[in-house]
Amino acid sequence: MFKKIFILLVIVLNLHAKGYSMQNFTWPNGVTFLQFLENSNIPLRLYYNLSDTDKELATEVVAGTECEIMVDEDGILEQLLVPITEELQIHIYKDKSDNYALNFTPVIYTQSEHLLGVSIESSPYMDISKATGNSALANAFSVVFGKVVNFKRLQKNDNLALRYIQKERLGRPYGQPEIISGMIEENGKSKYMYKYGLKYYDERGKISERFFFKLPIPGARVSSKFSPKRFHPILKRYRAHLGTDYAAKTGTPIKAVADGRVSFVGRKGGYGKTVEITHANGYKSLYAHTNGFAKGLKSGQSVKQGQVIAYVGSTGTSTGPHLHLGLYKNNKAMDFQKVVSVEKEVQNVKEKQEFAKLVKEQNEKLQMAMGGFHNPEKFVGFDSFIAF
Ligand SMILES: [Zn+2]
Repeated sequence: MFKKIFILLVIVLNLHAKGYSMQNFTWPNGVTFLQFLENSNIPLRLYYNLSDTDKELATEVVAGTECEIMVDEDGILEQLLVPITEELQIHIYKDKSDNYALNFTPVIYTQSEHLLGVSIESSPYMDISKATGNSALANAFSVVFGKVVNFKRLQKNDNLALRYIQKERLGRPYGQPEIISGMIEENGKSKYMYKYGLKYYDERGKISERFFFKLPIPGARVSSKFSPKRFHPILKRYRAHLGTDYAAKTGTPIKAVADGRVSFVGRKGGYGKTVEITHANGYKSLYAHTNGFAKGLKSGQSVKQGQVIAYVGSTGTSTGPHLHLGLYKNNKAMDFQKVVSVEKEVQNVKEKQEFAKLVKEQNEKLQMAMGGFHNPEKFVGFDSFIAF
């Protein structure tokens, strides 16, 4: 069954080099990393020999992830790359003695800064997509400005300008673009947003983000932060941590970070006893290593923000009682601490001066972007994926 799905999903990208061929495939729904190894005749020791935290990482492979595989003329797997985050991927390869080995390697990409100026024809999303062919950018713009501007009140020929950083890989935009600053006219009146630190502020230095998430264990200490990739200087290995760990005693109640619907209750690989809740706007939260669930909690049930859903424990591959909290947007892991920190204006004098300088610099760039003269070349999607 799996093999059939797998073959269907294998799509050729580049053809034959030295008798090997590179293929792209999409990670199938509902298949764990361990099942994948089993179905591909790769020794399971590759998984079992991993450290606890690496097993936890391997639990993170998401259905729909685009992977690359290299096979020889007989269809035997030579190399496999499975991205876990935008930064880090699982690499399976044959070592010198022809045995399969596994390590975590950084994803190779380039990134560059762009300016974009667009005149509104239908909506910011449609017009940015049309100008750049980059729907992730259109989406990022809508997220940053959707909180301060009512897009329905925009008029034709209102302008928008953007400064952003985009990763590129294999000739295509890759991952989430980072918006540095932006401007949009609402009926001819300009509204600005600037990234300062981790968050976006308007031109007065006020944060306009609506407070959406609350802490799962108020007052608990963060014992391990989110990190999409870091190099461990002693182990000389790449690692990642796709959540925020909160230290707390066994049995401490864990609260839902926002309203939502329970989408998973049960054991989940290295995460042990786990609850997942889906929220509005494509968000999902995950609570791992729990000791047990709130009485009667079941999949499909609605929960309110602050409602107790489980209790702190140490199940799965965990070295001591703590909560591992994961936050995902459209199945991509993101840093909970970035979205939860308390509302704050740019405060002290040093920050205010710094911010004023940043606003001046960014406005000069945005001014350059106006009129579309500096727009990047439009990315045109190519249809080279041939399913067979
Ligand atoms: Zn963790």
